[in-house]
Amino acid sequence: MQQTITRTPVITIRQEQASVRVTGYFYAVDLGSHVRPQHHYVGINAECNCTLGHSCPAVDAVRAYLKEGGQRVDRPPFGYYPVRPSTCPICQGRTVSDTSLSSRNRGAGWRCSSGKTHYWQHRAQISAIRQKAAEQT
Ligand SMILES: [Zn+2]
Ligand SMILES: [Zn+2]
Repeated sequence: MQQTITRTPVITIRQEQASVRVTGYFYAVDLGSHVRPQHHYVGINAECNCTLGHSCPAVDAVRAYLKEGGQRVDRPPFGYYPVRPSTCPICQGRTVSDTSLSSRNRGAGWRCSSGKTHYWQHRAQISAIRQKAAEQT
């Protein structure tokens, strides 16, 4: 007996076309010449630097790459953020970039629903931990 199954077609990006490379604190993803833009940079917050952010196929390519035992990027030094955290460390809410808060020592600046309050609260926590560590040595 034959069965007829109707399915909606699923569009998938061919993962084998994507190449992932570690560069500094980022994953450089080449999605192949058929994809525009071809080159993407995914941070440790699982967010791409392109307009798609979290939903970029480059993020999935990095996940697949790590699952297959790919090399992980270096962990940044304590308190330094190469990219903004995906959620606020204080209220766990979503963050947005704020380049006015970015600095060489602190890394990427961000804001949450509190505005800049939680950013500075978090920086104060980092300073306190750093100071404690310095006193112990
Ligand atoms: Zn992207
Ligand atoms: Zn917050």
